[in-house]
Amino acid sequence: MKKMRVVFLVVTIVALLSGLILNRPERVDEKRYLKEIAPELVFSEKKGVPPHYRSDRGIIAFNSYDIAPDIRGYAGPIKVLILLTPEGRIYRLKIIHHQETENYVHYMLTSSYLRQFIGKHVNEPFEVDNDIDGISRATVSVKALAETIRVSSRTVASEVLGIEVKRGGTGRVFPLDWLIYLCWFSITFGFYLLTKRNKRFLKYRDLLLIGSILILGVYLSAFFSIIHLYNLLLLQVSSSGLWFVVLLTTVVSMLIAGRFYCGWLCPFGAITEFFHKVPVRKWRISFEVDYRYRWVKYLLLLLFTLSVLIGRKPHYGNYEAYITLFSLHGSSLSWSVVILVFVFSTKVKRFWCRYLCPVGAIGGMLSSSDSRYKGSKDCPMENKPSPPTHECIRCNRCYEHLI
Ligand code: SF4
Repeated sequence: MKKMRVVFLVVTIVALLSGLILNRPERVDEKRYLKEIAPELVFSEKKGVPPHYRSDRGIIAFNSYDIAPDIRGYAGPIKVLILLTPEGRIYRLKIIHHQETENYVHYMLTSSYLRQFIGKHVNEPFEVDNDIDGISRATVSVKALAETIRVSSRTVASEVLGIEVKRGGTGRVFPLDWLIYLCWFSITFGFYLLTKRNKRFLKYRDLLLIGSILILGVYLSAFFSIIHLYNLLLLQVSSSGLWFVVLLTTVVSMLIAGRFYCGWLCPFGAITEFFHKVPVRKWRISFEVDYRYRWVKYLLLLLFTLSVLIGRKPHYGNYEAYITLFSLHGSSLSWSVVILVFVFSTKVKRFWCRYLCPVGAIGGMLSSSDSRYKGSKDCPMENKPSPPTHECIRCNRCYEHLI
């Protein structure tokens, strides 16, 4: 594992540097987009403070990023080309750049969703679930979009069109999502510690796994993904508290408790564990073959890390079946992967976690060894006696507490 850590570190650094050298900052061709969304208008060159285009009919066009660069979605800023009428109403708009995960924001990008902004006056609230429709599982992104449009439009209306605008935002919203995540994380981590001391508490693990599926998977749709790490490495961080809480709790827990996240919190891992309880004939795989193929997930992680960091596009690394499942959106190929994983999970314990999961690979690399895990015939990962720590998901079934 030491070797793998070094290889991963070297690949990450080389890929990051190559990405920086090979990729020039992306230039968005705003004039092309202006022609596309308002072909009937002729615009001047971009000028002024804040920078804007002016049309022959007095319509003002601007890139929201020039005015509100600090408002970020789940993966950096969402850049919107906005056209304002001289009266301060939105005439047209188009999202011209974003790095959000398409599975979640595909509806936000459609013209039918964006149409609700057309005709709005800059002084309207632009508040999600009030005058702007929310999208379940994409709350962070749609809030960022609404705020970007509100802030940049009011600035341009005030400073270019001379309209009196309302100041300030929509007020602070209580951060319920990350608080729920943190509570659930604390509860499961508490049980993880209890099961180390007393095996009686193991009987609650299935209940906690069901809780993780319902709370993190279905309700919040907030779970750790390798894209969190890619966004961090590419400095495309979110302004959402939930994003930071998921990232920090997972990485810290991996450092102190190995793959605890996989064994107690991951909703996808939990589902596959339950799939194995389906009474069908199981496959017997020899230890040698099994352990050899477990390296596939590290290989996949290396390949995707290379392509993401060299291309500087986090979504190149989106091969995680759980994103398709919990976003309820994906190509036929990604849905086929989900179905195949479920079918294989009925035959092989935790098929995804053992052979394919990038988060499992990261967790394995961050796990420190602990000889108190002795192995058990009921092991959910089918680990052999005295298992390698990077393959243990810390269910604590075989943990021997030293008094
Ligand atoms: S090795 Fe032990 S603690 Fe780890 S997953 Fe298997 S049974 Fe659970």
